[in-house]
Amino acid sequence: MSRILLIEDHPSLGGTIAEYLRRAGHAVDLARTLAAGRALLADVVFDLVLLDLGLPDGDGLELLRQKAVAAPVLVLTARGTLSERIEGLDRGADDYMVKPFALEELGARCRTLLRRAGGAPKTQVRLGRLSFDMATQALETGDIRFDLSRRERQLLMAMMQRPGKICTRQYLETQLYDQSEPVGPNALETAMSRLRLQLGRHDCGVEVRTIRGVGYLLEARRNDGQG
Ligand code: CA
Repeated sequence: MSRILLIEDHPSLGGTIAEYLRRAGHAVDLARTLAAGRALLADVVFDLVLLDLGLPDGDGLELLRQKAVAAPVLVLTARGTLSERIEGLDRGADDYMVKPFALEELGARCRTLLRRAGGAPKTQVRLGRLSFDMATQALETGDIRFDLSRRERQLLMAMMQRPGKICTRQYLETQLYDQSEPVGPNALETAMSRLRLQLGRHDCGVEVRTIRGVGYLLEARRNDGQG
């Protein structure tokens, strides 16, 4: 059982989602305003927060801006434009659902986020056959050590911190380049194509997918290692 905070002001939708998740065995607190949500967050440790953006006393993104939420955040909103999605992801949301959505899909996304959040933060991150030690920056595929250039390693590290999640261009650029460094318009693409080459060369079983107009996603290659 997980403790879930649902911040949603819509009169029937809030109750419907809360009931659905309770039937799935979770403890659900329902807040109808930003203030009520903030008060609960100050008192209770939640495993997952479902956050509506259009709330009567403000914008749900405020909570992300203020870094008020330690738990994974699934944003629920009717706003579906690309720039707003990117803002939500950049502010620290872990996933995003545009209303209207099927409750079954919401349930599946919640399970994924809860599973991902389980356990203490690890320094050893694994994906496909690739293993990366965040502390020593050592890279292994199978049992074989290999190395990357500084840029490629930084890029991989930034994406390994968000496995299976979209990394926006903005997120990657802030991870890779500090303010003092001039960044060419194609610097990220260049670094990314070199990293892809290295991942393929070392047979890591992972790939970088381009999410057009948004960013990149690092994931284990499907059907890999079966033949
Ligand atoms: Ca609303």
